[in-house]
Amino acid sequence: MLNTSDIYNDIRDAVAKLCADYPGEYWRKLDREMAYPTEFVQALTDAGWLAALIPEEYGGAGLPLSAGAAILEEIHKSGGNAGACHAQMYTMGTLLRHGSEEQKQKYLPGIADGSLRLQAFGVTEPTSGTDTGALKTTAKLDGKHYVVNGQKIWTSRAEHSDLMILLARTTPLSEGTKKTSGLSVLLVDMREAKDNGLKIRPIRTMMNHATTEVFFENLPVPGENLIGEEGKGFKYILSGMNSERILIASECIGDAKWLIEKAVNYAKERKVFGRSIGQNQGIQFPIAKAYANMRAAELMVQEALRVYEAGENPGAEANMAKMLAADASNEAANACTQTHGGFGFAEEYDIERKFRETRLYQVAPISTNLILSYLSEHILGMPRSY
Ligand SMILES: Cc1cc2nc3c(=O)[nH]c(=O)nc-3n(C[C@H](O)[C@H](O)[C@H](O)COP(=O)(O)OP(=O)(O)OC[C@H]3O[C@@H](n4cnc5c(N)ncnc54)[C@H](O)[C@@H]3O)c2cc1C
Repeated sequence: MLNTSDIYNDIRDAVAKLCADYPGEYWRKLDREMAYPTEFVQALTDAGWLAALIPEEYGGAGLPLSAGAAILEEIHKSGGNAGACHAQMYTMGTLLRHGSEEQKQKYLPGIADGSLRLQAFGVTEPTSGTDTGALKTTAKLDGKHYVVNGQKIWTSRAEHSDLMILLARTTPLSEGTKKTSGLSVLLVDMREAKDNGLKIRPIRTMMNHATTEVFFENLPVPGENLIGEEGKGFKYILSGMNSERILIASECIGDAKWLIEKAVNYAKERKVFGRSIGQNQGIQFPIAKAYANMRAAELMVQEALRVYEAGENPGAEANMAKMLAADASNEAANACTQTHGGFGFAEEYDIERKFRETRLYQVAPISTNLILSYLSEHILGMPRSY
């Protein structure tokens, strides 16, 4: 019923088969303990799925973004969650697009075979928030090293990563220059950095997400770990955001499909007043509406993929896909919870877990308000609001 995409069926079937080994009980136990899905991530890595987007010459599968989207959607459609490892799939894009050939040769094959985990992406800071240009973490060149000082927040998976893509200020803000210039991207080897200027503190959140705060105190990072040109980091990070938004939108579509299917099945089987609750329009309509909105969002994800893969700028489509898909999964979570009555709140049904998980995507990796601001300004030509 909910197999609405007919491309990548082989990939979808193989991923679904792998996910079947990690059922609700697996995710529930991790959620209870706020633990990392190490076995699941290892299985995905061993099967090569997290290396799908890395070009073949660096040991990956060289598949297009739409294949990555199918993989992530399928994980979520199975009731699982790829948030623990999705960054391994796309964070390497910064290195791939802007790194030197030497850096690519050094890191990408290890990222492809999973011996090097590139899961951490340090952009957000506690005081600057969405206003990335106002970030305060600095990297000062001192001889052959940058010395990094500052703090990041919401650096997800930092405890489960060997490398971090870090955005830091290398040129102080001065009058007349754009806030977003003077930022640079460094590849931090966290294995060397721990206890040598890098501290990680986990943050417990409403869903199991392995996110952290990261503190830098005189952390030395070799100058050769600068990605691309100094001062152009903001542009490099922005260029990766479209793929991130499209892939996370695909996860939301997977969540929505899982939730809609659960709701439909329960609505058909649960009998109250001597008939199935799904016979009542008050139960049917919210599920049918969630389905319609999921399908509309899915079409926007496909459009964003089309534009991205045609080599054009998918800024508007990627943003709209992320917003509509996040709304669709949120709506499906609401409808599914309501359909289940009290059981929607019981841990063993996994619905309350998905309800919490889907809520995140109203805020991260970009909040709905900022997407609407982007559309207002860049697509509709209204004045910038911030
Ligand atoms: C679980 C989790 C994982 C994350 N993982 C990562 C990660 O791995 N790496 C990373 O760098 N970041 C990560 N983030 C950070 C995430 O990208 C930010 O939380 C998000 O971009 C919002 O920024 P903020 O939290 O600073 O909110 P703020 O910028 O403080 O905004 C607060 C609220 O105000 C609204 N707002 C702000 N400015 C405006 C405006 N001009 N107009 C209208 N509304 C406005 C926002 O929409 C938001 O609702 C993660 C966050 C979470 C919660």
